Amino acid sequence: MIDYSDNRYSKLFDKQKSQQLAMGRTTYKERIKKLKALQTALEDTYKQALRDALYKDFKKPQLEVDLSEIYPVVDEIKFVNKQLKSWLSKQKVDTPITLLGSSSWIKNESKGVCLIISPWNYPINLTFGPLVSAIAAGNTVILKPSEMTPHTSKVMCDIVNDLFEEHEVALIEGEVEVSTELLKLPFNHIFFTGSPQVGKIVMKAASEHLTSVTLELGGKSPVIIDDSSNLDKAVKKIVFGKFLNVGQTCIAPDYVFINESLKSAFIESFKKHLKIFFTENPSHSDSYGRIVNQKHFERLKGYLEDAISRNATIAIGGASEEKENYIEPTVVFDLPEDSELMQYEIFGPILPVKTYTSMSEVLEYINSKEKPLALYIFSKNKKRINDIINNTRAGGTCINHNLLQFQNHNLPFGGSNNSGIGKSHGYFGFLEFTNQRSVLKQHTLGAIDLLTPPYTDFKQKLVD
Ligand code: NAD
Repeated sequence: MIDYSDNRYSKLFDKQKSQQLAMGRTTYKERIKKLKALQTALEDTYKQALRDALYKDFKKPQLEVDLSEIYPVVDEIKFVNKQLKSWLSKQKVDTPITLLGSSSWIKNESKGVCLIISPWNYPINLTFGPLVSAIAAGNTVILKPSEMTPHTSKVMCDIVNDLFEEHEVALIEGEVEVSTELLKLPFNHIFFTGSPQVGKIVMKAASEHLTSVTLELGGKSPVIIDDSSNLDKAVKKIVFGKFLNVGQTCIAPDYVFINESLKSAFIESFKKHLKIFFTENPSHSDSYGRIVNQKHFERLKGYLEDAISRNATIAIGGASEEKENYIEPTVVFDLPEDSELMQYEIFGPILPVKTYTSMSEVLEYINSKEKPLALYIFSKNKKRINDIINNTRAGGTCINHNLLQFQNHNLPFGGSNNSGIGKSHGYFGFLEFTNQRSVLKQHTLGAIDLLTPPYTDFKQKLVD
């Protein structure tokens, strides 16, 4: 590992700063070459090490690592590979008649030295995903992954040291203090993924240097199931979306609204799919991981105890094992509004369900909360789907499924206000790390050149 002793971060920052123009001048072919090296590391050289590390960190099943950590980054690289040449070419735009004799274009230029701070829940995806966009845009990058998945951070550090010079990309492992120190530096852009609380700290620090930010945050993402939907299919998809990564997913369904008439069928279907996915006892299933650490285990257990103390109904699950950081897939009804499960982002395998009789009460409830990162709708009724979309606000929406909106690189991914600022993925991610420089070139004298001082009556008449 690189040794950054005293002033280590500012020395590293200065080194990257001295290279930023050179990095910004690299051709799309040179950038693709770097990205392909990263692809090979993920798909080949370091694949097994990454799988093993995530198993050590929170018993993440191997197939889930492949699907939700390695594949999305590789897919992002393939997408960028096809598009980058055109993204970096002159983006010609029209020039108005008043500027006759000129031509105009946008040059997508690198921002400079960027900082990427990432969370623990999808450490590879959420560290290397933004890195792909930052490299595509020609920046130098310092990465700071989460301290909560140390085995994975170590392998990611090895990959970065193996593939990049430290003046291009460097990864710094460490606790919150590392972020705090890094946030003092005058980065040209900060891309942060994590909680809204820490997002505010990042934005405050960035304001000191007027550094631009992308904030990919979290919150409570609701699901609405109406009486026209295919309930059994909807439940199967929700069981998948909620318990992938043991519910530790920013866009996981946080709570569900179902039509009152569907309550008992919903519970039966939920039990059926849980059993198919994870057997009668998920603690023995190889397809079900663990809570990342004791702190988060206790947080979630506290939410459940709070629910029980308020006479909520645990319809499914509720068991836990402290020494394993295991929490059973759990479904809770009848939660009072001030319960912890309804107040905080859950980020674990507990699903509150609320019943409704009219859609207007659902929309009123959702609109009384912070704008969610995702809002899911299960319905066959087109008018109702449109009504829900038109009468709510959310970072993204998936209709008749969940999570999949993350996977289409043609769609911007991100939240709105409390769930985030700015977007990632594909062209949108590239733009976050890019300054869209406007360029206007005058070829021949234009009309405006006739209107310079002195402002005579004749010139005034030309304008009138
Ligand atoms: P977190 O905000 O606690 O930590 C994220 C990163 O910030 C870590 O690297 C951590 O070391 C650093 N950090 C923590 N406290 C800090 C502080 N005081 N000052 C500076 N840096 C600090 O988030 P987490 O627990 O790692 O992840 C869970 C949260 O992330 C949830 O809210 C989830 O919804 C959100 N999330 C969002 C997305 C998205 O794409 N929108 C994706 C994954 C997770």
